[in-house]
Amino acid sequence: AQKRYADLRDKAARDRSGTEISLMMNAGLMADLPSLAGSGADGVGLFRTELQFLTRTRVPRRDELAALYARVMDAAQGKRVHFRTLDIGSDKVLPYMKPQDEPNPAMGWRALRVGLDKRGVLRMQLQALLRAAGDRPLSIMFPFVATAEEFREARGEVLRQRDRELAFGRQVPEDLRIGAMLETPSLAYAPDSFFQSCDFISIGGNDLKQFFFAADRENERVRRRYDTLDCSFLTFLEQIVARCDAAGTPLSFCGEDAGRPIEALAFAALGLRILSMRPASIGPVKHLIRRADLAELRAIIHEARASGVQSARPAVTHYLATL
Ligand code: PEP
Ligand code: MG
Repeated sequence: AQKRYADLRDKAARDRSGTEISLMMNAGLMADLPSLAGSGADGVGLFRTELQFLTRTRVPRRDELAALYARVMDAAQGKRVHFRTLDIGSDKVLPYMKPQDEPNPAMGWRALRVGLDKRGVLRMQLQALLRAAGDRPLSIMFPFVATAEEFREARGEVLRQRDRELAFGRQVPEDLRIGAMLETPSLAYAPDSFFQSCDFISIGGNDLKQFFFAADRENERVRRRYDTLDCSFLTFLEQIVARCDAAGTPLSFCGEDAGRPIEALAFAALGLRILSMRPASIGPVKHLIRRADLAELRAIIHEARASGVQSARPAVTHYLATL
């Protein structure tokens, strides 16, 4: 099987009718970057930046971060890297941060909420990213955006920092893309202008599913109770696809489910055109996409939903067995 996947490395993830899906990888360490070439990923769809913050005894300095981000961009050799700003709080607690006594940390002071309240850290990280990029393309995405207003503020901060770099006479990216992670159901209902103002949107399925079903992603007992291919969740995903399509905004899915072949295929059938996953999942997902007809699977999922079943999984796995 490994060999079969290696043979696929330089082939496109194109289904039998010619629909192409872009497969990207998730990363968070310099050590992950060699997988970019090895896996045949089109780029890094999600670079989690919290690890550099989690493994230290103090807030990293701007120059240290800039050097690290520059090395990540060098290693990517022109392939796009989507840097996600610091996503701390909830399950990711910084050793040097005063512990917050919150009854529900997953719904507490985390991710962009911390970034907007503690502007110094957010600005420092944005400056590090801008300096690492120089005149190279740069993609920045914000985690856990719950409202259009939060995204507007965060985006404004990037543009201010870019202008500041310019004023200092430094080079800045001409190709600067600013996007949001869609991880809270509220954001799916933001105004059209929000979708239009995002250069891209990425669904953080781990969090989105947790909040959609009100089932803690860390709690085994309730986590497995709800299927990702539940017809209600798939309907919700289709609504997000439709809103992004209407705005002309590229949409990806970067939660763990994107790397599970059955889920990945269902997402692609429902209109997701970019999936970001663990590098090891790229081969298996590509293999399945190349054998499937996504329009056919879409019709099968819609038929299952119309019949009133709870989950589309049996219909999707049945279709897979026929390939
Ligand atoms: C997600 O929530 O799906 C996601 C990609 O972010 P994280 O798992 O880091 O919260
Ligand atoms: Mg998340």
